[in-house]
Amino acid sequence: MFERRPTRQIVLGDERVGIVRIGGGAPTARHPEATLDSAAEDGGPAPVVVQTMTAGYTYDVDACVMEINKLAAAGADVVRVAVPEKKDTAALKEIIPRVRVAIVADVHFHFQRALEAVEAGVHKIRLNPGNISDRAQVDEVIDACKAQGIPIRVGVNEGSIIERKDKQQRKEELGKFFEKSNVGGHNAHLLALMIVKLEEYMDIFTARDFHDVCISAKSMDAAFVVDVYREVSRRFDYPLHLGVTHAGPKETGAIRSIAALSGLLCQGIGDTVRISYANDPVFEVEDGLELCYSLSLRERKGVDLIACPTCGRIQVDLFTLVQDVRKKLAADIRVPMKVAVMGCVVNGPGEAEGADVAVFAGDRKGIIYVQGERVANVTEEEILERLHAECMAFQDRVERGEAKLGEKVVEIVPPDPIGELGSGEAIIARGDVSTVTPLTVGGE
Ligand code: SF4
Repeated sequence: MFERRPTRQIVLGDERVGIVRIGGGAPTARHPEATLDSAAEDGGPAPVVVQTMTAGYTYDVDACVMEINKLAAAGADVVRVAVPEKKDTAALKEIIPRVRVAIVADVHFHFQRALEAVEAGVHKIRLNPGNISDRAQVDEVIDACKAQGIPIRVGVNEGSIIERKDKQQRKEELGKFFEKSNVGGHNAHLLALMIVKLEEYMDIFTARDFHDVCISAKSMDAAFVVDVYREVSRRFDYPLHLGVTHAGPKETGAIRSIAALSGLLCQGIGDTVRISYANDPVFEVEDGLELCYSLSLRERKGVDLIACPTCGRIQVDLFTLVQDVRKKLAADIRVPMKVAVMGCVVNGPGEAEGADVAVFAGDRKGIIYVQGERVANVTEEEILERLHAECMAFQDRVERGEAKLGEKVVEIVPPDPIGELGSGEAIIARGDVSTVTPLTVGGE
């Protein structure tokens, strides 16, 4: 559905941690069936890469390894770590051999940290050239990365584009900024500042003939993020790392991030995403993956769980049941089967159509279907275990080639049939709707 913007491609990782490709490709549509390794072979853009960042201290080696492994197990393709001090880059030497996911070193202010991280075997560097005091130091980092074939993410964000050291200059720049903001040019002025700084930084990389680059330009304002990335995508052919910075707590930060990122991804813009908010980064990974799955930008791994929102017809504790089902199936189900947990049999069957496995609750019990066949009628207390067992058995059959996902769907005549008004198909057949034009989303 979404034509991906073609970009140069960067490649990070190695055989041990896996190769991760970001961006790239011909100006063709998405490649949902491609794996992260295969995109370069068929010439298309690599599937959108999901990344996150550790929340703990990098120098605490065991804890950092444990957190990275937890994030990789949750599905992160790339994990970034902060390396503010020498003890952090020293720890990288011990951490990298103990993890099986590509690692990015996040460098601010001290170019030596970037050099040390490269020496430690990191797979990518994140750098804001505006935070490095000396151009020669930036050049040194670029040359070190070039020698080792390590890509660099050039990241600017709204907080780092105004002068920091020279107080007088900062005052003047901030003055101009607010003066223009006051006349309604807030976004336009900020956008111009970010583009100008980004072009200045990219000139440094171009001058050293270094193109192994990915770009980010973040803000905490979701609408502004859409504007700035659209502009960046028009000016640069490098892959783009999408993100909203300082997005806030999970409850609002997830929505802020997804509002911006889905707006861009639907326009084909964006090659790797980080959902970020103030909470456990495992949730960031889960949300990033679900965003990609929901937009068909990646092939789903594991369960596609649908559930009804509940209403006054409910007769079981569906909220608890859905959470329990989610946790239990996430741990054991590898194939992308669709599972429906519905609160009743009134609208449930229609809404669950297309599910491989479904449970319809009612009157403190649950009726379970597997690909249209009724397999169990259990009490409310037994629903979770029986549903899990049926999903496991179905997964076995799929993996043995005895069943096919989505082949046969739940098909039940609900107790409240369509009635004399007829179905949507009946309305079309009567000619009340002459043509149905598919909606298109995105585009320039
Ligand atoms: S499936 Fe039943 S309980 Fe759930 S929202 Fe629909 S009508 Fe209500």
